[in-house]
Amino acid sequence: MSGNPLPPSTPVDQLQRPLRDLRVSVTDRCNFRCIYCMPREIFGRRYTFLEHKDILTFEEIARLVRVLQPLGVQKVRLTGGEPLVRKHLERLIGMLASLGGLDLTLTTNGALLASQAKMLRDAGLQRVTVSLDTLDDAVFRQMNDVDVPVQSALDGIDAAAAAGLNPVKVNMVVKRELNDASVLPMARHFRNSGHILRFIEFMDVGQTNGWRMDDVVPASEILAMVHAAHPLEPMEPNYPGEVARRWRYRDGAGEIGVIASVTQPFCRGCTRARLSADGSLYTCLFAGGGHSLRDVLRSGASDEEIASTVRALWGGRGDRYSEIRSSETANLPKVEMSFIGG
Ligand code: SAM
Ligand code: SF4
Ligand code: SF4
Repeated sequence: MSGNPLPPSTPVDQLQRPLRDLRVSVTDRCNFRCIYCMPREIFGRRYTFLEHKDILTFEEIARLVRVLQPLGVQKVRLTGGEPLVRKHLERLIGMLASLGGLDLTLTTNGALLASQAKMLRDAGLQRVTVSLDTLDDAVFRQMNDVDVPVQSALDGIDAAAAAGLNPVKVNMVVKRELNDASVLPMARHFRNSGHILRFIEFMDVGQTNGWRMDDVVPASEILAMVHAAHPLEPMEPNYPGEVARRWRYRDGAGEIGVIASVTQPFCRGCTRARLSADGSLYTCLFAGGGHSLRDVLRSGASDEEIASTVRALWGGRGDRYSEIRSSETANLPKVEMSFIGG
């Protein structure tokens, strides 16, 4: 993403942060039940999912994105739940691509990517991030809790690269004593692959993943582990406010990233808004609530009215959760990650 100067009509929030990125959750459903995100049972209950009529249509999503572009949105990431379970996602991608001027990406668990990568690329998708937490098939199945083999995600990554969705980013959430033994095997596997592996600290999103600080493997520890086996050196960020800190292997085997949302928060540069599948705008991943743009849209509002609503919401934003996180804030009511897509 570029750091183009902002046109005068673009809002900044209470901490002078512009709106640049929009994460759009296209569904709250998922074909996985990752134990750190959407555990099969929460407090003995099962998830209840949104009804189809409550989910934004592709036309509604495309309209919102078009209205938000002049407010500063330059990058759109489609997410979920699992975005590839939403039928005919390529139609939405085609509609967004035809708006022009957007960096258009998607985050997926990869299980359905092998069959869809080329179609998504042909529709106008530019890049893809695949979430993959281990290469160990038994651990992978344990983590997704639906017995999908790790090979399906690896095939998805290969298909994405072959379709030209490069560089493929691979996101690995590291949780202590669950998959921390996979850090080095993952680093080795993706060295010299052209893909960018990014390690993510386990976060206290939502209210169902039983987060404890002890479960977090700090980015510094992850880097030390990789560096001891394959020496690293720091790289410049691609653009100001980039979430991942970049490192490259000294022997030229490629780059990795670390997203240290817990131990080195980056709220100061946070330019992201999130749109849930039912059309609520959230100004922080850890927000307790959002503001329904679906209601605004469906009340017959004009583009200018929608834009003013978002301008006002963004102008009032003071979120900086990760900078004030504590054992107390971890228990506050927060939206589920599967609802707004990480
Ligand atoms: N289903 C897609 C996927 O898994 O890539 C997209 C949605 S998922 C909610 C987006 C990202 O959030 C994934 O990379 C996932 O690993 C990450 N994630 C989920 N729960 C997390 C947690 N508690 N801490 C850190 N990352 C988390
Ligand atoms: Fe796992 Fe993504 Fe589904 Fe959450 S939304 S359960 S991280 S695949
Ligand atoms: Fe942005 Fe909220 Fe995350 Fe801070 S905690 S980086 S404000 S999403």
